[in-house]
Amino acid sequence: MTAKTHDLVLAGARVLDPETGHDAVANVGVTGATITAVSPGPLEGRETLDVSGLVLAPGWIDLHSHSHTVAGHRLQALDGVTTALDLEAGVAPVGEAYDAAGAEGRPLNYGFSASWAQARMTAVGGLPPGGGLAAGLSHLGNPAWQRAATPRQLDALFELIRADLAAGALGIGMLVGYAPRVAPEEYLAVAGLAAEAGVPTYTHARDLVEQTPDTPIDGATEVAQAAAATGAHMHYCHVNSTSLRQVDRVLTLIERVRAEGARVSTEAYPYGAGMTGIGATFLAAELLGRRGIRPDSIVYAPTGERVADAARLGELRATDPGGLAIVHFLDEDVPADVAVIDRALLGEDTVIGSDAMPLTWTGGERPDPMAWPLPPGAVTHPRTAGTFSKVLRRYVRETGRLSLIEAVRRCSLLPARVLEESVPAMRRKGRVQTGCDADLVVFSPGVVSDQATYADSTRPSTGYAHVLVGGRHVVRDGEPVLDALPGRAIRR
Ligand SMILES: [Zn+2]
Repeated sequence: MTAKTHDLVLAGARVLDPETGHDAVANVGVTGATITAVSPGPLEGRETLDVSGLVLAPGWIDLHSHSHTVAGHRLQALDGVTTALDLEAGVAPVGEAYDAAGAEGRPLNYGFSASWAQARMTAVGGLPPGGGLAAGLSHLGNPAWQRAATPRQLDALFELIRADLAAGALGIGMLVGYAPRVAPEEYLAVAGLAAEAGVPTYTHARDLVEQTPDTPIDGATEVAQAAAATGAHMHYCHVNSTSLRQVDRVLTLIERVRAEGARVSTEAYPYGAGMTGIGATFLAAELLGRRGIRPDSIVYAPTGERVADAARLGELRATDPGGLAIVHFLDEDVPADVAVIDRALLGEDTVIGSDAMPLTWTGGERPDPMAWPLPPGAVTHPRTAGTFSKVLRRYVRETGRLSLIEAVRRCSLLPARVLEESVPAMRRKGRVQTGCDADLVVFSPGVVSDQATYADSTRPSTGYAHVLVGGRHVVRDGEPVLDALPGRAIRR
């Protein structure tokens, strides 16, 4: 009699499985890309790693990552992420993004939604198709794609979205907040298309009525009504940064329609500032007051310049509309503002999603994109590198407002559940169970922490001993494994 020999045994960790509630010391066997045992008894492995004293959990699944590069993935891997999906913005055509990632290889599993905005840039705005996220960002503030669509343009738009869904897109990304005058009927029709196709939508909501009294529809009401009217699963992206001080009103509305049977999920990240293209419509100087901010609330990432006044803001918006900027909406030193972030993050079943941003290379030249450690000059939003570890530090360890297993659930199982009805592969993620994917994190709950700050935005998080994607180390003994590209496409 020979006992089964696993490729790898992770021995002696406190193993958390948020689906079954398993929270006990166990040994975990991994063979190939799959978990082949979770056992209190000893396991035999070709290799055994002693991980006693540490926590083993399903890897974090980030539904909101605009971090599409190997370097960006490494930063997220060091924050415990094993699957990084761009669902809010998405990409059009989606096949182009899958092909690029597949050809180059990625440390983390990756996937994309169909981008309503980018398809609209082509079908309504007449802008050239493709070009990925960078092209989408550079056109974001261009009024051409935001105008009312003719019936023929709408047909063309829906054709593009249908084609991307047929090409395996993970639902429809809806950046409606960046085209705030679009007809509510169009939004509803896109939700109807998603319901028909059996896929979720992911919305960056329109302005709230408190921010913009003449908005065609209140942003939160729009999401809630679309869920109720069409039956589509509506995912409400970064409910913290679009709701701001109205977060309580927004979440109360969402919780009510959910109780009535509508499918709305919410997501948040634990920071007071946002980051987006400086050319975004809602960053026009004359509109800043609606969100209680001023030009000097904005920091232009390529130079680190705090924008002095409306004239300078106008200049930057004209010369580099896709240039990324940090926007300080809430002050993390002001308790009332922190309470807003907390309310968003601690809402019932809020998914943790980072909104990880691309790296902006300052100083003119673009160094080797595969270099690690990151060459000097890379800047981003600290959420890119730190979201998940900040949740563990602040909400589990420092304030105790989430139990460890509840935080793990919000970082892994809950995001898997948003997708798994339409993407069966996600049923094997977000769990530590025999037969599930060996996407795993092993970390020290007493020390795990974000390190990135607004001033030093690419400092990797610390505290993760091992991060495995499909059974392969992408982080080993706390260090990224530079030749590991085990990430697989998540595709319908
Ligand atoms: Zn957004």
